[in-house]
Amino acid sequence: MKYIRESFKHLFGGAATRPQPDEITPAAQRVHFYKKQQKVTKEEMIAIHAAHEGQPKRWRTRRWITLLVVNLLFVVSFYFDIQLLEGAMTASRFIGFHMADLNSALHVMLAFKELVLNLVIGTVTIFILWLLLGGRTFCSWACPYHLLSEWAEMIHLWLVRKKIIKNHTFDRRARTLLYVIFASLSIVTGYTVFETISPTGIVSRALIYGPGIALIWIAFLLLVEVFYSRRAWCRYACPIGITYGAVGAISPLRVKFNAKDCHHEGDCRKACLVPHVLDLTIKGRAQDVDMDLSADCTRCGMCIDICPTDSLKFEFKGLGKHL
Ligand code: SF4
Ligand code: SF4
Repeated sequence: MKYIRESFKHLFGGAATRPQPDEITPAAQRVHFYKKQQKVTKEEMIAIHAAHEGQPKRWRTRRWITLLVVNLLFVVSFYFDIQLLEGAMTASRFIGFHMADLNSALHVMLAFKELVLNLVIGTVTIFILWLLLGGRTFCSWACPYHLLSEWAEMIHLWLVRKKIIKNHTFDRRARTLLYVIFASLSIVTGYTVFETISPTGIVSRALIYGPGIALIWIAFLLLVEVFYSRRAWCRYACPIGITYGAVGAISPLRVKFNAKDCHHEGDCRKACLVPHVLDLTIKGRAQDVDMDLSADCTRCGMCIDICPTDSLKFEFKGLGKHL
């Protein structure tokens, strides 16, 4: 229950909680105490990082391949009319099975104020799929805009490192406000207003059916993300992240943090799209020795790739084996 509470707090834009001393388990207190006594020296830290440098980014490679394959399957199916993966990211059929993006399905039902049978079947299929795969896993493993935004982020970070630009942040609660606004607009207007500006749908349709005028909006978003605010759309605006995050709150697939070997230098937080979920990696913050990252985590695996001490791992609850 505590995990679900913390997850929804993060999803709606709340800050990570700093635990009170009595909320920290005796085992975690021993770990924190030991670390205070046995400080890692600067030289040791440099050596650990040097040993990890140049390690392949395994999860990123797997994710990029998956993203490309999923999105290209739509394109190939359309061009060769092979009915493998028909439609687009928002609504599709995979070898005959209806699939509907949860956020789009929600907006269609709000707009039409009725349950469309095909949509219900598609929503259930997708709900089960993303429940097993971790909710916001959709963001980093399927959303085509995510990949473009990730490349834009690389340019943004390079510009920041060179001191050419500064990053600007916004209040994360903006995403919750936009969620309510777009849901209300669907109810009031009877149209799925969000779909007209959702980069997920626009990029997916552009890939499959060819470019359209809506790509100007995508170019604008990417320019904002390159020159003004890192990952602005996914961090502060996209309601899809909240819908899938809510599913992820009950998913068995999570990223697990083990506090024992962590050096708390913060490399994972620097790499993460949603760094607040990694606040428990800050020194003294972990309430237990092993902790699951909240459902706002997109399960992208960047923190796992970058962690020099293997303190972060994927875990599928119930299988009892780290991936
Ligand atoms: S937050 Fe939205 S745009 Fe970003 S990756 Fe998730 S679905 Fe795609
Ligand atoms: S916590 Fe790790 S897996 Fe989750 S979004 Fe951040 S970098 Fe990706």
